[in-house]
Amino acid sequence: MNATGANQPTIQFLGAAGTVTGSRFLLECGDTRVLVDCGMFQGLKELRLKNWENFPVEPESIDAVVLTHAHLDHCGYLPRLVKLGFGGPVYLTEYTGKLAEVILRDSARIQTEDAAWALKKGFSKHNPPVALYGEPDVDTTLKQFQPTAFYTQTQVATETFVTFHPAGHILGASFIEVEFFGKRLLFTGDLGRPDHPLLRAPGAFPEGQFDAVITESTYGDREHDARSTDFPTVINTTIDRGGSVLIPAFAVDRTEVILVRLRELIEEGKIRNVPIYADSPMALRALAFYRDAIDKHSPEIRDDIAETWQGRDPFNPGQLVELMTVDESKSINTPPQPSIIISASGMATGGRVVHHLRGMLPNPKHTVVLVGYQAAGTRGRNLLEGAKEVKMHGEMVPVEAQIASIQEFSVHADGNELMQWIGVAKDRIKKIFVIHGEEGAQEAVVKRVEDELHITAVAPTDAQHFTL
Ligand SMILES: [Zn+2]
Repeated sequence: MNATGANQPTIQFLGAAGTVTGSRFLLECGDTRVLVDCGMFQGLKELRLKNWENFPVEPESIDAVVLTHAHLDHCGYLPRLVKLGFGGPVYLTEYTGKLAEVILRDSARIQTEDAAWALKKGFSKHNPPVALYGEPDVDTTLKQFQPTAFYTQTQVATETFVTFHPAGHILGASFIEVEFFGKRLLFTGDLGRPDHPLLRAPGAFPEGQFDAVITESTYGDREHDARSTDFPTVINTTIDRGGSVLIPAFAVDRTEVILVRLRELIEEGKIRNVPIYADSPMALRALAFYRDAIDKHSPEIRDDIAETWQGRDPFNPGQLVELMTVDESKSINTPPQPSIIISASGMATGGRVVHHLRGMLPNPKHTVVLVGYQAAGTRGRNLLEGAKEVKMHGEMVPVEAQIASIQEFSVHADGNELMQWIGVAKDRIKKIFVIHGEEGAQEAVVKRVEDELHITAVAPTDAQHFTL
């Protein structure tokens, strides 16, 4: 019997409601429980603390987990769920599995280091401080992965069938068609854009009637600029004044997309052929999987990319330097000559990029280029909003460097793209749940869905239940 007290299929929103992190959606009917995505909460402290709350149902009572993609806010809670007793299968695509391993191992390392740091400094609500999960939990989690082909309907639990379709967001990413006790649902996951340089555009909206669509709305209240000239201009002006460009970038996908764009700009003679440093061990591991997927022409890779680049490297613009060790990374904290540095994390919340920021922010000749979504409460967001100083390693660092924001690398559909993608099926959808957006974005999409598509739309609140 589920929480509504009836043997009717229900959905409960256990995250990404009014925020962009913690995607976790529980489908229940009778004794069957399937969780779609299992993300970690990130950003503001009040959100991060939610990772420590009890999971709303017994983790061992969940039959299966289905993952849309490998980003931490969609898979980062999984080892915690396993640690708390979930022992069932995790259905995902081949490259979501490979990237999730890279991302979860990195996350376990950060959790463990944070706990050790809290122990040393004596601040923690746990005594002694504990990690949300560690490497052994990740090892157990990986054994539960069930790599699943695109386009093929797979049974994952009683009367529950899923089909993965390429979403054009990151390697392996999918939107998922779910049949749950006779109800047809579609989870967009994170929906990509038609112009990803490596990945196929999001697949067409599937045929047939849908009882509900659960859509993201990250950029639902804005429109991306068409490919602008800003990026090369920002690079050239910085290099002309003897400075370097620092790009905080998500290790997975964003680094790959930026490297491809830099190679194109150098080939076209639009920017100078300066050294380019890829400084994130996680990004370099992900890069290897992108190269592998191109070589194998995995279904989510664009045909033209697979044909042109099979056996060649689309990521090296000429002077690509891959920095693996900490010492190599430290050597460019204050770059000795004009160069371009791509380093994680993407919102400057941690990782090697923080050390580079500390070295480069006080110097007006350098430029920090923000290329991705910057969640509320992160250093990246503070820089974007014009902070004159930012706190790093317990110290205030003055911001004298130029700060630029470039939209062309976004891997989320904007409001118009979302409406177009869903709009083709507007007569076949009963209801739309709008999730995965900060305040303003969810409401904007709800309004557009109702005004333009004439479909009932709801922005669920945290933990809210609905009968399907
Ligand atoms: Zn994502």
